[in-house]
Amino acid sequence: MRALAPVKYYTATSLQDACEKLNQAGGKGKVLAGGSDIVDWLRKRYMPTPEVLVDIKKLGLDTIETKEDGVHIGATVKLSDLGKAGIPMLAEAARKGPSPQLQNQATVGGNMCQNVWCWYYRLKDWNCYRKGGPICFVPGGRNQYHAIMEQKVCNAIVPGDVSVALTALNANVNIAGMEGSRTVPMKDFYIVLGNVLKPDEIITDIVIPEKPSKGVFLKSRTRGAIDFATASVALSTTSQGTTVALGGVAPIIPSGTPEEIRSALGKATPLSENRYKINIVKHLLSEAGA
Ligand SMILES: Cc1cc2nc3c(=O)[nH]c(=O)nc-3n(C[C@H](O)[C@H](O)[C@H](O)COP(=O)(O)OP(=O)(O)OC[C@H]3O[C@@H](n4cnc5c(N)ncnc54)[C@H](O)[C@@H]3O)c2cc1C
Ligand code: SF4
Repeated sequence: MRALAPVKYYTATSLQDACEKLNQAGGKGKVLAGGSDIVDWLRKRYMPTPEVLVDIKKLGLDTIETKEDGVHIGATVKLSDLGKAGIPMLAEAARKGPSPQLQNQATVGGNMCQNVWCWYYRLKDWNCYRKGGPICFVPGGRNQYHAIMEQKVCNAIVPGDVSVALTALNANVNIAGMEGSRTVPMKDFYIVLGNVLKPDEIITDIVIPEKPSKGVFLKSRTRGAIDFATASVALSTTSQGTTVALGGVAPIIPSGTPEEIRSALGKATPLSENRYKINIVKHLLSEAGA
């Protein structure tokens, strides 16, 4: 097995300390949570690796608490502990994610921020657009697992199943950084080539404002036991109405009312090998009752 790329490791003693260490690293630092994705990056070196890792696991961000503004899920809560939030569709998204061993290691924040699993991106010699290169290899290459909507410059999909459920739940992401803290709705967390986090920012917790009276998470995957979604649908109904979110289909997580989602699907722009995903999404939407 290949050795890890050299990296400086810090155990953060407070949120302020963690943000300062990331800031001092000048864009070459990364948060370390469960490590299941970032260690793979350090080992495979498919693009320049971080020089500093800031471990946030001792910051007490591993609790689930109900407060006035909703259920707060700490960023380092493990996927296997998500059942404790009392929202079955969220636990289902975690359970249908990586293997049980990984669910015991991987955290909610890490699931949200993991790198994309585009096969060109994860190979060292393919310097694609998302890595700062000149081209996306997907439209002219193999693309059966890639995006069918919202593609701009990159056709990779958001890989985190839990993120899809959190988006349907209209969750808000609390973020700490050198310039203070801010809150971003889950629906705005992903952008064209990643997410809204600045290099010195850390997700502290995610807040679900209202538990749904109806919640559904459905996932289609090639291998039944463990696999990323070819497509997934999360739906939540609260006093505010019904929100649907789609996974496995775009570089962001499309969300909206059932009508808005069906309309967006009608405008999908599939690639040469992935038109089949449209029918899967339609089927999952009907199964979810959307
Ligand atoms: C074989 C395999 C199959 C998988 N299948 C699935 C699947 O079906 N569905 C699925 O959803 N996932 C799947 N995964 C991915 C897995 O869920 C992720 O590796 C895991 O969720 C990452 O969490 P972590 O805590 O280990 O993150 P880490 O590896 O510690 O971090 C990942 C990234 O997130 C950043 N980060 C972590 N926490 C924070 C934070 N609080 N604030 C800011 N940045 C942060 C890190 O800097 C890093 O860039 C699979 C992985 C493997 C290896
Ligand atoms: S889909 Fe995105 S990650 Fe994959 S090759 Fe294209 S630009 Fe790179």
